[in-house]
Amino acid sequence: MVTQPEQAKPHEFNPWLRVASLIETAGHQLGLADDMIQRIIQPERILEVSVPVRMDSGRIQMFTGWRIQHDTSRGPGKGGIRFHPSVNTDEIAALSADMSIKCAVVNIPYGGAKGGVKVDPEALSRSELERLTRRYAFSIAPMIGPDRDIPAPDINTDFQVMSWIMDTVSMLRGHNMPGVVTGKPLSIGGTLGHAGATSLGVTICAAAILERLGRPMNEQRVIIQGYGKVGAPLVKLLSDRGMKVVGISDVHGAIHVPEGISYSILAKHFAEAHTVVGYPGALHVGAEEFWAIPSDIAIPAALGGVITEDVAEVLSASIVIEAANGPTTGEGAAVLARRGIQAVPDVLANAGGVVASYFEWAQDLQGFMWERELFTQRLEKTMSDAFKYVWQRHLELNVTLREAAIAVGVERIAEATEVRGLFP
Ligand code: NAD
Repeated sequence: MVTQPEQAKPHEFNPWLRVASLIETAGHQLGLADDMIQRIIQPERILEVSVPVRMDSGRIQMFTGWRIQHDTSRGPGKGGIRFHPSVNTDEIAALSADMSIKCAVVNIPYGGAKGGVKVDPEALSRSELERLTRRYAFSIAPMIGPDRDIPAPDINTDFQVMSWIMDTVSMLRGHNMPGVVTGKPLSIGGTLGHAGATSLGVTICAAAILERLGRPMNEQRVIIQGYGKVGAPLVKLLSDRGMKVVGISDVHGAIHVPEGISYSILAKHFAEAHTVVGYPGALHVGAEEFWAIPSDIAIPAALGGVITEDVAEVLSASIVIEAANGPTTGEGAAVLARRGIQAVPDVLANAGGVVASYFEWAQDLQGFMWERELFTQRLEKTMSDAFKYVWQRHLELNVTLREAAIAVGVERIAEATEVRGLFP
């Protein structure tokens, strides 16, 4: 089971208790009854599985995996699978609840779910990784399916892992089942536009908030933490809209280029150096100075928990757009709010990825593939509509954008829960 509030260890950050308290606060802001709030908070289903894997050496090693469906009142569960040594019940439960909120915020017909295996995939050979993936997929197979719960990639899982899961479940059920996972290659039911969809959603949120605040795009200086699947496409997308990316960091260090970074020069440099460090003519800054680089917009697109109280105090930007999951701590969020810094929260800002997954699943169910233009047009509309509604609720409820986004999610889940009633 997940940790209950009375079991909380003082001074120890627990992601589950944080998300549970955010839902509880939103429920109170919305005037929901306590029993409804508790019904929304508690995960519906927690499956813990033992995953025995025959290693290349011939011996059998045991791993532990989870699949958690947090809420399925609005549709089948949706959420990634992560392979990481830190995975545990509370972490997966917190991420599954984030997914319930995120899918409700962008108003797609999904509930929230998440899965994972406690493993360091770097320590496995490719064949060990395949055996681990297939055995884990077999163990969670009774719980997943296109109309039950649809996994996707997350940390350390990719299109190949999704392909193995799709194949395992298809073999078990005796027919091809592309809609059981998203993030697949095009050859087995993936969609055009999936790569870069999260970054496009972040860009739409950036443009939308600038419009609401009456700030011209071509006067904005942006810093981005992370130059990976989300951070790298952002440099081009934001530059194409006239913004100037003046700082980028990755795991190796940070660069500052006051006159603006060229995405094509950076892409070329990165292809050779495998880091942003060493970009021609860049000023090098330490990790602690990165957030203070003079800028208007800051985009964390790497790790969770990076905008702490201290970082929020020195941040130069007046807008934060959370491309990463959970980049701002509770204390950091309080400082941002006190300083009047607008933060577009992760459940809205990075939802482009799950919207893309929804489009992939819809195409798989229909057996009808869309053109890229249709995909992009629908992604832009879904993200713009979501931003518009969260902005409206932020004004109506007189709360921060983060609180408004969670309230929108909780409100929609409560509405579905209420109208469906209680079985039996
Ligand atoms: P990724 O692994 O492709 O890239 C991560 C980047 O972060 C890399 O450039 C890495 O060097 C950098 N990084 C790591 N540690 C760092 C540090 N200490 N300081 C600065 N940079 C550091 O990951 P991604 O898929 O781009 O995901 C980034 C974030 O976005 C994660 O929080 C993820 O959960 C979230 N997210 C991703 C997607 C998606 O579609 N990929 C969707 C929603 C949310």
